[in-house]
Amino acid sequence: MESILVIIDAEEDKPLSGQALETLGAAAALSAIVKKEISVGLVGSGDLSKVATALAGAAAKAFTFSDAALKDPGYARDAFAAAKLVKASGAAWVLAPASSRWSRALPGAAERCGGKVDTHITSFEEKGGKAAAGRWYYRQRIFGKILREQGPWFMTIETGSFPKAAVGVGAAPAVTPVAEALPASRSKVLGLRSLSGGKQTIKPDAELLLVAGAGWTKTQKDGVKHAKEAEGLILAFLEKYGASLGSSKAATDLAAEGGEALTFMTQLHQVGQTGASPRHAKGLATCCFGEEPHVVGWRFINERRAIDLNANCGWAQGKADVLYVADVFEVFKELAK
Ligand SMILES: Cc1cc2nc3c(=O)[nH]c(=O)nc-3n(C[C@H](O)[C@H](O)[C@H](O)COP(=O)(O)OP(=O)(O)OC[C@H]3O[C@@H](n4cnc5c(N)ncnc54)[C@H](O)[C@@H]3O)c2cc1C
Repeated sequence: MESILVIIDAEEDKPLSGQALETLGAAAALSAIVKKEISVGLVGSGDLSKVATALAGAAAKAFTFSDAALKDPGYARDAFAAAKLVKASGAAWVLAPASSRWSRALPGAAERCGGKVDTHITSFEEKGGKAAAGRWYYRQRIFGKILREQGPWFMTIETGSFPKAAVGVGAAPAVTPVAEALPASRSKVLGLRSLSGGKQTIKPDAELLLVAGAGWTKTQKDGVKHAKEAEGLILAFLEKYGASLGSSKAATDLAAEGGEALTFMTQLHQVGQTGASPRHAKGLATCCFGEEPHVVGWRFINERRAIDLNANCGWAQGKADVLYVADVFEVFKELAK
């Protein structure tokens, strides 16, 4: 039977990520249009039937592919396992989170199943009795709607686009394990290394985005720069409030050029016209003027606040709901208490 399959990476005794629950939420939106059942395909290690049981209410069936080698991402293994789950489920639509793992492996699974793949999907709508998938192109300037005849239709779902599915209510899905030998691989995962100095500071699941601008590293009122102190205050804030970190271009470039800078900033943190357009519910800009090329990256963040010394900065020109005209070092020391 044609169904919607949501592919998620999972581990026994580990809660699913917010991104996984959002992808299940996307499946619910698609199911409301195409009126087909939702199944979940779990790829990972350990007893995945426990994870499947926890998805009661969000999926009618679960297909699991468990192998110790699937604990870590690996293109060939992930694409193989996902393709086997699609074939076992007979799905016509296959959704997976637009995470680094599935952005790489899902197109490979689509090829193995003779399907088509679209990426960064942010919406579904009904069009002539069919489901059209929506996504942004050219750095969020053009919005496109896609209809496809050929299936299975694989799609990666952009984070922050759909509400998380409610799980744990109603009947648990019936579990079908898929057992096949994984292809031999010469790749071995030795460990994970974060670009930003060992700590993962980019968290798409976080409610709040903290954007740090170049002002953090500029000469302050005592005539001295305080980059090290700035780093400590920013990291403490991220930890205390579970926030994700973004930056302005000026702050990113300083770090890349080796000047006195926030050492954990990378190109991946940059928000704006030539950076990312994140989708957190709330944003707090600090020490960042709020120039237009930066603020275009805030288009999906609806609740915006800023802290800047300059009462006439860009945020004051209608770009933020609240501008606190204050010294960020003083504010963050208070917030750290
Ligand atoms: C084609 C093009 C593309 C671009 N793309 C991007 C992009 O993608 N993203 C992006 O960010 N920029 C982009 N820019 C650059 C952008 O125009 C700005 O130059 C950049 O955003 C400035 O960064 P900033 O606000 O951190 O630094 P600054 O302009 O130097 O602002 C620093 C701010 O910190 C404040 N400050 C200093 N000390 C304190 C303190 N103690 N407490 C509170 N506030 C303090 C100052 O008042 C000031 O407002 C682009 C530019 C061009 C031309």
